[in-house]
Amino acid sequence: MITAPAVLQPPASIGVALETDKSLAGLTSIKIGGPADYFATVTHPHQLLRLVRWARGVKLPYLILGGGSNVLISDAGVRGLVIHNRCRAIRIDPAPCCVFPLDERPFLFAESGAALAGAARTSINQGLSGLEWAVSVPGTVGGAVINNAGAHGGEVKDSLWDVMLLGDADEVQTVRASDLAYRYRHSRLKRGESIQGGFGPVVLSANFRLSPGSGEEIRAKAQGFLEHRRRTQPVEPSLGSTFTNPPGDYAGRLIDAAGLRGHRVGGIEVSRTHANFLANAGGVGGACAADVLTMMALIQARVYERFGVELEAEIQRVGEWTQ
Ligand SMILES: Cc1cc2nc3c(=O)[nH]c(=O)nc-3n(C[C@H](O)[C@H](O)[C@H](O)COP(=O)(O)OP(=O)(O)OC[C@H]3O[C@@H](n4cnc5c(N)ncnc54)[C@H](O)[C@@H]3O)c2cc1C
Repeated sequence: MITAPAVLQPPASIGVALETDKSLAGLTSIKIGGPADYFATVTHPHQLLRLVRWARGVKLPYLILGGGSNVLISDAGVRGLVIHNRCRAIRIDPAPCCVFPLDERPFLFAESGAALAGAARTSINQGLSGLEWAVSVPGTVGGAVINNAGAHGGEVKDSLWDVMLLGDADEVQTVRASDLAYRYRHSRLKRGESIQGGFGPVVLSANFRLSPGSGEEIRAKAQGFLEHRRRTQPVEPSLGSTFTNPPGDYAGRLIDAAGLRGHRVGGIEVSRTHANFLANAGGVGGACAADVLTMMALIQARVYERFGVELEAEIQRVGEWTQ
């Protein structure tokens, strides 16, 4: 008699039970994605740390899912373990003046599963400047650290001080932001355009260095950013900007000028509000990852044909692909 292989489970002491064959579509901002072989939600950094160490020990490849706002998960899904990061604590820490006697700017500490916009709101409410640009950016602090998220002229690298990581060799380390090789939507922690589960480093938490300022001015600035976003971005499920802006131009302008605004492939449409956004108007089940990929290839070909510009994906493809 053939018996089914035993389903993997981490030790009970970690306090996390694995689910199997879990659909990921509802956990992404575009509402697309097949199942994860194994899936767990963590709410405390100790769980995250122990679960990753266990997965490494049993050689089960893992992938951290934050807000799912920059990942296109394949229709076939992800082999291995997807860890949904809900470690969300945020606090303002006074500057450790024994280390920085001449600089009393406070820190904002955030666990990596905290909403970046929540970190921005916390700082704004405390009259601290440095994260106003992030008030309307979806996703988690971990995803933002990986991708050097930015908007309205600000970026993670401008105020990030250091991050706590679980490194490749299983050690917890503090890494200064200046050692993360930051550039436009990139850091040395980012694993490329198309990724499977693996055994890479995990961001556990981050410290941002902020500056005290005028509460009224800080609030007004953030409010202006929110209103600008409401006017210029679609409300339908999407992954935000699909392509990075080429030097000196805007991907959205090129896509529009190539005549693709409103173009449809399956359930995916080039947004009429912002042509660099691909909208899944149908929500979960409305469009599939293959539609997005076909649309991206079409846009890249058309923009190259018309303007000789090679658009590069900002979003990351995740999981198992046949295309
Ligand atoms: C409507 C909309 C508007 C947007 N506007 C902007 C914008 O203005 N500026 C901008 O920069 N981006 C924007 N984005 C894209 C997205 O919000 C950012 O890229 C965001 O930082 C992604 O964070 P996340 O938590 O959703 O990451 P995810 O999509 O969950 O993951 C992204 C990558 O980071 C990895 N990762 C996540 N957390 C960790 C961790 N703790 N440790 C190790 N690896 C990790 C994942 O494995 C994956 O490889 C927008 C998206 C949407 C939907």
